[in-house]
Amino acid sequence: MSDFYRKSTEEVMRDLDVTEQGLNTEDVQKRREQYGFNELAEARRKSAVQVFFEQFKDFLVIILLVAAVISAFLGKFESTIVILIVVIINAILGTVQHIKAEQSLRSLKALASPTAKVLRKGHRTEIPSREIVVGDILFLDAGDYVSADGRILESHSLQVNESSLTGESVSALKSVEAIDEDDVPIGDRKNMVFSGSFVTYGRAVVLVTGIGMNTEIGKIAGLLGTAREKKTPLQENLDDFGKKLAIVIIIIAIIIFGLDLFRGREIVDSFMFAVSLAVAAIPEALSSIVTIVLAFGTQRMARENAIIRRLYAVESLGSISVICSDKTGTLTQNKMTVQKVFVNNQVLDQNELNLDRPLEKKLLLMALLCNDSITEEKKEMGDPTEIALVNFGEKYGLDELAIRDDYPRIGEIPFDADRKLMSTVNKFNGESVMITKGALDVLLTRTVKIETAEGVTELTEEHKREIERVNRDFSSNGLRVLAFTYKGVKDPDISFEDETNYIFVGLTAMMDPPREESAEAVKNCIEAGIKPVMITGDHRITASAIARQIGILRNESEAIEGIEIEKLTDEELRNKVENISVYARVSPEHKIRIVRAWQEKGNVVAMTGDGVNDAPALKQADVGIAMGITGTEVAKDASSMVLTDDNFSTIVKAISNGRSIYENIKNAIRFLLSGNTGAILSVLYASLGALPVPFAPVHLLFINLLTDSLPAIAIGLEPHNEKLMKEKPRDIRTPLLNKAFAIRVTIEGLLIAAATLIAFHIGLSTGDTAIASTMAFATLCLSRLLHSFNARAKESIFKIGLFSNKYIWYAVILGIILLHLVLLLEPLMDVFEVAVLNRAQLLSIYGLSLMPLVVIQLYKLLFVRSGR
Ligand code: ATP
Repeated sequence: MSDFYRKSTEEVMRDLDVTEQGLNTEDVQKRREQYGFNELAEARRKSAVQVFFEQFKDFLVIILLVAAVISAFLGKFESTIVILIVVIINAILGTVQHIKAEQSLRSLKALASPTAKVLRKGHRTEIPSREIVVGDILFLDAGDYVSADGRILESHSLQVNESSLTGESVSALKSVEAIDEDDVPIGDRKNMVFSGSFVTYGRAVVLVTGIGMNTEIGKIAGLLGTAREKKTPLQENLDDFGKKLAIVIIIIAIIIFGLDLFRGREIVDSFMFAVSLAVAAIPEALSSIVTIVLAFGTQRMARENAIIRRLYAVESLGSISVICSDKTGTLTQNKMTVQKVFVNNQVLDQNELNLDRPLEKKLLLMALLCNDSITEEKKEMGDPTEIALVNFGEKYGLDELAIRDDYPRIGEIPFDADRKLMSTVNKFNGESVMITKGALDVLLTRTVKIETAEGVTELTEEHKREIERVNRDFSSNGLRVLAFTYKGVKDPDISFEDETNYIFVGLTAMMDPPREESAEAVKNCIEAGIKPVMITGDHRITASAIARQIGILRNESEAIEGIEIEKLTDEELRNKVENISVYARVSPEHKIRIVRAWQEKGNVVAMTGDGVNDAPALKQADVGIAMGITGTEVAKDASSMVLTDDNFSTIVKAISNGRSIYENIKNAIRFLLSGNTGAILSVLYASLGALPVPFAPVHLLFINLLTDSLPAIAIGLEPHNEKLMKEKPRDIRTPLLNKAFAIRVTIEGLLIAAATLIAFHIGLSTGDTAIASTMAFATLCLSRLLHSFNARAKESIFKIGLFSNKYIWYAVILGIILLHLVLLLEPLMDVFEVAVLNRAQLLSIYGLSLMPLVVIQLYKLLFVRSGR
């Protein structure tokens, strides 16, 4: 049944058995059973077994498997078995981590899933798009994604971007009339909308005719591959680094192998030396640590109202140096109330209106008619600006729905942020009257007359000056002003050209107080070296008043209007951008220029947005942030983060989380690399000094794959470090693995190697190489475990709180238990090639293992202040 476009709306309603009240619960149930949910079939997810076997593709694991086979050939079956067991345990751990990270990312996605507005049992309700059924009556507004195919029942200038289906990027204008032709291509089915497209303008009511795989996009898409999250730049860098390091290490290992053979060492020993070196050096867990820390970090951010849609945003968050934020709803509460009106040449307080005076009543009627919002049993639906008007009418006993029945709407042009106007045509006693409300500066230039108690007269310069004076007065108190005008029209089918030659009636001024937390959040931002910038569609004076209250604006010269941006070239804007804190009367296309100008100045920019036209600026920003409550689906889709509470202070919290997460990842990686460096230096020392092998490969395997990864994850889960928000943003161009990082890794590695080698020499002095190797292994293992306390933060553990990260304690204690099981349990001793140690030897291991911890902590206590 794909010929819905040929039928009239009545026929389609009849065919699908739908009444004007929409479906009821039973209908929905039945249709759900028949057609299922509105979703595209996904390619099957990987099973746990598949994930498990993928772990064996890892480079290190392949080396180990080769080593296991060679060991078996050389008759060392015990080694082979241990290597295999450790590799299997490692693969199980890897599988669990992978599945956990995937689960948490999937639940994050579910949080950001789209919704749709439908009519059910006569009521307009919002449901997850997945729950739409065939026969639902769907409401579409600008910025909505169309989430099912449908026949248009009612269209008000509806324009839809269907590029995902037709490739055509120009929006298609839709209409209601049936098309009596065969085989009309999708792009020409003007009375249908299709899943996967989005509304760029206007609004419509649509009857759903197809869902899920039965939609046009479902037919094309076939199976939707589970879009795998792309690796973040940091993960890519680390993978790249890991690969390069592995190649270098293998070359060194081969050289050392040759050197040893040349020196006459036995082939078995030489081989074990080379394998040890490779195992010690190859950092296997780097990229997976990033995944795990990001997954846990984003969970926490979601609990704090910031949903991450693209993982790379977490890395950029920590480097943000400018936040360009909307005003209404983000910095302010978006709870508007009308405070004052201006009508008949006088300013009235909100409770001073008298409906017996015709002009005051007229203004109220206009406010309720040129208005799409409703309040129903305490539920408010629609734009807060319009809800304020409905509530204002209610105060005077006017019911918006009754009034809209009395003066029915017969034409309209919806509001959009570019025009800053909204128009309707209503029937007044048989005459068609066009009402337009919107920004005064836009409307006044299109107004020719004014209505006062004396009747309608020409609008004089004097009138204009007075209206502008009142407007300024309202605005400088932070009030948001709307102007109301009207005129008679013959044809209700109005277009943009008709929005002129008006009669002025009055102004309403509404209050939208700043959010309580905004001023504090702005202060935190500035302290953290981040510049907050307000970008708003509102009037300059209103915007400046609010910006001043919350600390964004200090000097009036820091505020400019959209129209001034238009006069500036890109270069002029770039030169000015750092001195502007408030942009008023901005259209969405100005936003993208502001973002670019900041970026060209070397900044990392966050930009908020909610409308369909904000999408390009959200994409251009380093972190595009959409509003979860008021934002359109299109804006959410273009963003990399969604705020579930629309609150500016949530952005600052998210940045703080972003900084912590990056720092934690860096610390975890430093921990892993410094431990590996300690091991490499020890092996190299022994090789160059022609000493016996300090570690058997199983020793290094034990450390690298078992006792090292849990502390690394624990470091990644280090709680929030408030001090990070007292520092400047991290320069995004500085790579994580920079010179300073390498120096610290080397020094820490040297300390670990020193402790290990002292233990090795103590062991060698007994004349028993097995004891020497056991002591070296135990010291390396224990000192690396204890070193995890060093890696928690720049500051000493006494400053950040010895017990503030309980995971580290669990990981270290578990590691110590595992080590002692290997050192003391007879059967394990054999398997892990460990000799019996006496008490003095054990004590020297403990003492030496503490050395790197003590030295580094002392250094931090004495020399480290906060600051990078
Ligand atoms: P932002 O959210 O970007 O901080 P804003 O919400 O104030 O700003 P817009 O919603 O684009 O910005 O509104 C811009 C101007 O358009 C307002 O100052 C007001 O004059 C006018 N306006 C806002 N809402 C409506 C509406 N529903 N009908 C008519 N005019 C409106």
